[in-house]
Amino acid sequence: MGLEEKLPNGILLASVEGLVNWTRKASLWPATFGLACCAIEMMTSGAPRYDLGRFGMEVFRPSPRQADLMIVAGRVTNKMAPVLRQIYDQMAEPRWVLAMGVCASSGGMFNNYAVVQGVDHVVPVDMYLPGCPPRPEMLIDAILKLHQKIQQEPLGPVRAQLAAERRAQGETLELLPSSVKYGREKA
Ligand code: SF4
Repeated sequence: MGLEEKLPNGILLASVEGLVNWTRKASLWPATFGLACCAIEMMTSGAPRYDLGRFGMEVFRPSPRQADLMIVAGRVTNKMAPVLRQIYDQMAEPRWVLAMGVCASSGGMFNNYAVVQGVDHVVPVDMYLPGCPPRPEMLIDAILKLHQKIQQEPLGPVRAQLAAERRAQGETLELLPSSVKYGREKA
């Protein structure tokens, strides 16, 4: 029994916004980028036991120009911060950032001069994932929550109208990708 037998007339209707967001969320490509022990859990997420391929994102891209998701897996040192920012700037728009683990989110136990106390000092973050290290299931859960956020993202005139309304109330539109929300002349 196929899907068409369940539908009354064989026609599916969807908004352009829904379709665009669906294709975006179903083809998130992460940049190949691991910084410390959390990266091992991230790699495990792509292996057969957890299989990130189920969500269309098993291919970690070696070039940032082919990636739209940065998973910051591990602590960021001050020496690494400009490199991380350069990779972020080279990624395709719209792009999203997931801070994986307490080190990436807040510096974690490394409260010292060498480690950035939260990667949001360097790039805007869309999703924070706690844990030391977060297990692959937790990473997948964070990615699925990011998918939900992308699916609900307003586009075009709807986005402009919502953003204007929020600005009038002194707020920002939380559903926008961080790269758009904090981008120059784009909010
Ligand atoms: S959060 Fe824990 S596992 Fe992840 S990079 Fe920091 S110390 Fe390593």
